[in-house]
Amino acid sequence: MRKPLIIANWKSNPLTLKEAVVLARSAEKYSKIFRGADVVVAPPFLFISAVSKILRQAKLGAQDVFWAEGPYTGEISLRQLKNLGVRYVIVGHSSLRMTLGETDEMVNKKIKAIYCDFLSAVLCVGEWKRKGDRIPALVGAQLKNSLKGVKKSQLERVVVAYEPVWAISTMPGAQVDTPQSAVRALRYLRGILSRMYGKKYADKVKMLYGGSVSAKNARQFLILPGVDGALVGGASLRPQEFGEIISQASAF
Ligand code: PEP
Repeated sequence: MRKPLIIANWKSNPLTLKEAVVLARSAEKYSKIFRGADVVVAPPFLFISAVSKILRQAKLGAQDVFWAEGPYTGEISLRQLKNLGVRYVIVGHSSLRMTLGETDEMVNKKIKAIYCDFLSAVLCVGEWKRKGDRIPALVGAQLKNSLKGVKKSQLERVVVAYEPVWAISTMPGAQVDTPQSAVRALRYLRGILSRMYGKKYADKVKMLYGGSVSAKNARQFLILPGVDGALVGGASLRPQEFGEIISQASAF
């Protein structure tokens, strides 16, 4: 198995800088102890600068970016993120798709810009509603559309995170996915990548699972074939629990 990648998505948490510092110190501590996993911390923009001064072993992530440089009110540019040491940028997260109307086309622009600025994109895809055993075509379409025009050579800086929206802990009535269904979806997505780019390139892409990953269930997901790590929301805000997830990932 490849070295697992564990990404903490803090979303719009915590409320204060003091708490952000505590969380970042803890993530850094655990990533130094358990070096068998790569850890990325994606704080809100507000705390990126402070967190960048704390992380050494763990890498810095951002939760979004704007695709163009220039005078865009309220937006954050890639160069600004890069100057702060950001290495990974999450794009296409369901909360942006859902509340701000982010489209595959916008995600595609972001991925291309992220590549040009030598950062890596964490592309989130996932269906809204649970649909039994069938993987909804929407998930495949999100992947294909988001990667339109992205070259084989650019894939090395794309990580795919499959996050069924109904499994995200903050969604009303969230349900935990089964490992079997997660692995099926990831296999389906890798199959699409294979058809787009060839198996050799598709196999190199790291694929993460996200959605209510906790210390209790992380092992069940991380152990699955084709799962290269996890995107962790709520549990990344609980320092000890996040440490436990890193420790479990590091043991593979
Ligand atoms: C997320 O929103 O990216 C996420 C995975 O959240 P949670 O782990 O809380 O379900």
